[in-house]
Amino acid sequence: MDKQELLRSIPAVERVLEEPDLEALTCKLPRWTVTEAVRIVLDRIRHAIVEARTMQRPQMSEILQDVKCVAEQLAQRGIGRVVNATGVLLHTNLGRAILCEAAVEAVVEVARAYSSLEIDLDTGKRTSRLRHVEDLLKRIIGCEAATAVNNNAGAVLLALNTLAEGKETIVSRGELIEIGGSFRLPEVVAKSGTTMVEVGTTNRTHLDDYKRAISGRTAVILKVHRSNFEMTGFVESVPSRQLANLARNNDLVLIEDLGSGALIDYADFGVEHEPMPQECLKNGVDIVTFSGDKLLGGPQAGIIVGRKHLIEEMKVNPLARALRLDKMTLAALEVTLRLYLEPERLRQTIPILKMICTSADALEARATRIRTLIEEKVSEMIEISVEKERSQIGGGSLPGVSLETAVIKISSRHYSPAEISSVLRRCQPPIIARISDEKVILDLRTVQPSDDEVLIAQITAAFAGGDTR
Ligand SMILES: *Cc1c(COP(=O)(O)O)cnc(C)c1O
Repeated sequence: MDKQELLRSIPAVERVLEEPDLEALTCKLPRWTVTEAVRIVLDRIRHAIVEARTMQRPQMSEILQDVKCVAEQLAQRGIGRVVNATGVLLHTNLGRAILCEAAVEAVVEVARAYSSLEIDLDTGKRTSRLRHVEDLLKRIIGCEAATAVNNNAGAVLLALNTLAEGKETIVSRGELIEIGGSFRLPEVVAKSGTTMVEVGTTNRTHLDDYKRAISGRTAVILKVHRSNFEMTGFVESVPSRQLANLARNNDLVLIEDLGSGALIDYADFGVEHEPMPQECLKNGVDIVTFSGDKLLGGPQAGIIVGRKHLIEEMKVNPLARALRLDKMTLAALEVTLRLYLEPERLRQTIPILKMICTSADALEARATRIRTLIEEKVSEMIEISVEKERSQIGGGSLPGVSLETAVIKISSRHYSPAEISSVLRRCQPPIIARISDEKVILDLRTVQPSDDEVLIAQITAAFAGGDTR
């Protein structure tokens, strides 16, 4: 058969849809997924013929089988739960912090029913949706005022737009950071309408560099925490306290973008100390911004704390409305913050802290149990071992810190690590592993203990004898 003949032998979409074999599928899945799947499968065949990858006449039975696979995939596509076995506690691609149970319940409650979002229940009058979150932040951090927006990038944008639009903002060249591609500090600063004045060099910036850059047009000095990388060696930066003096003496505002925003001392939890907003304010910083879904362990949000008159200005900026938080996020943030009023219980209540505080021995015991339960059932093509490793915090937090952990290593002479990871990603729920030294690693620190059974069942099913691809 020549190409033209082969192409003509591809059935029409309608013809495939009429196949009685598809009826069961059309009952189970939305009709559009089946139609779309037929189109995709026929398109693939067309390409294969055009590119001379096949000389076979398409068989209806094969088409139908492919349509079923593709339709199932289409119906399932969307954001859904995964098992994070990467060991990276704040994984940007996997949604950063997971919420505490109480926050999840609060989200469901305000989503399902009408809520007291903007009504004062005493007077019946309209009030601010941020009132509870602001009160909690003031109480926890001890700041004059607080507010919150959609994320930390938004917080920086709002702060600079309010306080420095049409004027100049001084930033050290050592702090022009990029966070995961979509947050490049210079670009956000530019969009805020302020002119960025860079001072110092990549590795060293002195107080004099800032001093010399101050002019009649300067409004803000911006300090940015290097939250996702470390600089060592011949380095120097100016401490907040000195910058605060400089700002005060020149009638400027000092803003510090802290990024991860630990509200408690992470050194108390066996991790390194991470700068806290409380400390920045004590050092004389006027405005501090940080994320809600990094070390704080709440929902995505950008939190702004500091001087009252400056925050009042931000709250009436039209950008504040454009960046405002929705009721579900507010409910989650409120409940998460409330937990910080009982700091001694945090290691049980905040999932990220719970994961950080789990000992390597406890993780090893879980890993060994899982290994024992799956080892006998999986194909001999797979080897499974339990080893000690280290996990990262991730998500632009504590870049130099890693925690001792226990991992399940999967290796094979028949499958590449990429193939094994791909099989794991196709589990239900998908299991996200990491690859290190040509081995696939399942790090139990980020696997919730309640997911151990899921892991066992899914891995056993995925690798039970035979060809898994
Ligand atoms: C993470 C981070 C940001 C971006 O915060 P988002 O909440 O992701 O918008 C900005 N600045 C610093 C220093 C960060 O660590």
